[in-house]
Amino acid sequence: MFRLMGADLPDVPRLLREEGLDALEYEAVRWGPKPQITQEHAEKLGAAAKENDVRLSLHGSYYINLSGKREVVEASKRRLIASATAADWMGAYVMVFHTGFYGRFEKDFAFKTCLDALKEISAEIRSMGLRVKLGPETMGRKFQVGSLEEIMTLCQEVEGTQLVIDWAHLYALHQGSLKKTEDFRAIAEKVESRLGSEAMRSMHCHFSKIEFTLQGEKRHHTLDEMRYGPDFRMLAEVIADFQMHPTMICESPILDVDARKMKETLRQVLESKQSKV
Ligand SMILES: [Zn+2]
Repeated sequence: MFRLMGADLPDVPRLLREEGLDALEYEAVRWGPKPQITQEHAEKLGAAAKENDVRLSLHGSYYINLSGKREVVEASKRRLIASATAADWMGAYVMVFHTGFYGRFEKDFAFKTCLDALKEISAEIRSMGLRVKLGPETMGRKFQVGSLEEIMTLCQEVEGTQLVIDWAHLYALHQGSLKKTEDFRAIAEKVESRLGSEAMRSMHCHFSKIEFTLQGEKRHHTLDEMRYGPDFRMLAEVIADFQMHPTMICESPILDVDARKMKETLRQVLESKQSKV
């Protein structure tokens, strides 16, 4: 995710590249049932991304509940399909989204509703000829559908999905777990055993520091705020050890500054491991 004051959208991939960055998540988070970008504009962005070798993803609408009442699920499906359509125009490889809420429903029932809805969306976007993958994201609040287990099940059961792990959300949901490198390693291993090595290595990640309450996620923070976690260096160790090649999206309040810091940390970790061989 990236905002540059006054920059035209098709210029953003070049500006990112000049900063040494190579991934951009386009935010379609306030969209309703229709794409809020023209096909022409989306294609321009896609061409600029290609030219500058910047990987595009799209974050779909926040107004989604695939575990709600029938009308709510239907409206959510239309919004996700609009996001997927625009994602395809720009050549984004994944449309990331938040699946929904348990609400008054039993957890298992809410999850099953979500799973069925996602299968229908997957079938519909394939029948429309869209190539973008569906990326349900791990969520940070107790009332949200989207624990790691649930997201892995969705990836297993629904065709055309991409694993999306928001490490800050995992950390917040589990009240500050991920304290040691081993905690990150355990998650990579769990994913590998459920979804295979390639799904683990190519996961789409969101990362920032985060503040939480008993209910989970409260607020994202910058990497320099020492009193919050998790620590990116630990994830970088695991990325190096498991030869992962994740797409890493920084979600801190200072996006590109922290994204550059994360890239530099990863470079240092990879270098120090190489010199040990
Ligand atoms: Zn998200």
